[in-house]
Amino acid sequence: MQTTFPLTPPNLRFQNRFVETLPGDSDLRNSRRQVTQACYSLVKPTPVSSPALVAYSPEAAAELGLTEDDCRAPWFTELFSGNLVTSTMKPYAMCYGGHQFGSWAGQLGDGRAINLGEIINGNNRRWTLQLKGAGPTPYSRSADGLAVLRSSLREFLCSEAMHHLGIPTTRALSLILTGEQVVRDMFYDGHPKNEPGAVVCRTSPSFIRFGNFEILAARREYDLLEQLVGYTIKTDFPDLNFAPTVDTYLAWFAEVCKRTALMIAHWMRVGFVHGVMNSDNMSVLGLTIDYGPYGWLEGYEPTWTPNTTDAHGRRYCYGNQPYMAQWNLVQLANALFPIVKDEQALQEALDQYRLTFQQQWQRALRDKFGFKTTEKDDDKLISSALDLLTRTETDMTIFFRQLASLSIRETSGEALFAAISEAHYQPDELDDEYVRDMRNWLHLYRLRLLRNESEDAERRAAMNRVNPKYVFRNYLAQLAIDKVEAGDFSMVEELLELFRHPYDEQPEFSRYAVKRPEWARNRPGCSMLSCSS
Ligand code: AMP
Ligand code: MG
Repeated sequence: MQTTFPLTPPNLRFQNRFVETLPGDSDLRNSRRQVTQACYSLVKPTPVSSPALVAYSPEAAAELGLTEDDCRAPWFTELFSGNLVTSTMKPYAMCYGGHQFGSWAGQLGDGRAINLGEIINGNNRRWTLQLKGAGPTPYSRSADGLAVLRSSLREFLCSEAMHHLGIPTTRALSLILTGEQVVRDMFYDGHPKNEPGAVVCRTSPSFIRFGNFEILAARREYDLLEQLVGYTIKTDFPDLNFAPTVDTYLAWFAEVCKRTALMIAHWMRVGFVHGVMNSDNMSVLGLTIDYGPYGWLEGYEPTWTPNTTDAHGRRYCYGNQPYMAQWNLVQLANALFPIVKDEQALQEALDQYRLTFQQQWQRALRDKFGFKTTEKDDDKLISSALDLLTRTETDMTIFFRQLASLSIRETSGEALFAAISEAHYQPDELDDEYVRDMRNWLHLYRLRLLRNESEDAERRAAMNRVNPKYVFRNYLAQLAIDKVEAGDFSMVEELLELFRHPYDEQPEFSRYAVKRPEWARNRPGCSMLSCSS
């Protein structure tokens, strides 16, 4: 049963600027429809029968001013499952559109996400609290507004893992089982199943996406478009000193381009593949958002995608991500054109994406290989290494950690090769040509490091700060999901703890730093994921 409490729970000061500043849907019914002339619809979460807290993130809670005692209090589970709506909250679903897999998809919107409201924490930082999987909204189209445990657990843990990896991301506060069953056809192949329902509370300064602007431009609601741009700059980009001028809009768009570039360079650095980079899944704050069928490169392979729905076109594969982000920014530029009306200026701002990405990615690569100084042949050395990684299935994460462990005093080709061989998935099937080329490369690399002005220990520490030891491999997620489904929440806690320090050795967790086991190669959830969630 949903209860409306007169008091806000301790420490949560709601200040709902989005709904108080921007026009909302005048229709208050929760029925599926096109919502025009509005940025949001007021809608309450659907109450759930027996919510059970699986896990919470103490760090995300602390950002909000919540203690661990708060997180364990009954009101926490009630509030973040959608059962408790306080009088200071103004729950709403946002209206947005988007380009999905290259085509304009029209109105999408928060079909299963409900923003509870915004709060200002003790440091005067704004956080929007959003429940994902809390029931239908006017934007649910033909779907149910719900989410299942497997996708919710993946979103919860990955958001926090990304945060600790130093990658801009929305955060996750809690993972709660609803006690209800949700029907899903995981691979859209006519085999629907009951799965446990779950709700994640996500937190972010803002959940505004490229698609929030695109829908207004597509509907020619240009006044509203300008209002939303103004709101966003004032609220989330205060350094731009808002003025309602074309120059401010352009400066803002250039900033979105830069932030997006930085985010993508980070993804590429750690081998993260988002899987569904539609323009409705792109945050204007440059945050990783909407964790669905994402994955981490295990064997380094630029054409790899975790999303079976995308297996044919591979639009969102690892190597395409920098281009897809740019493609989405072009869609955002098109949406802003009606209020900027200067194609060349938008193009110049867009160039910031390419420039920033190139600069950040070059730097990330140099850091990954441990180059402290710059030499003219470095790019060649780096690209031949990446070529070699594709010639036999080689675990990206393990390769870079092992590379860091090389000693510049080691001269034997065999020993150099042995140092990285743990990364090979089929060590017995390596052909002679590959072994020869890899040994040659390792010799060149060692010679390069000799001119690097850094000792082994210093270089190793620097490389280990950018090459994580632990990433959220899909099979780890699947193991945790299997356990929660069997009533055992301990692995979620364990992974939360592990991913707090992804760059540290943490020998007690070394079993989680190994190559994907063979059983996971073709198991659904480990190698194959879909948008069904
Ligand atoms: P996604 O691909 O998960 O980013 O979702 C694309 C769109 O579909 C968004 O508008 C979502 O809100 C909506 N959507 C996805 N799953 C559901 C669901 N189970 N119920 C309602 N809407 C959904
Ligand atoms: Mg989405």
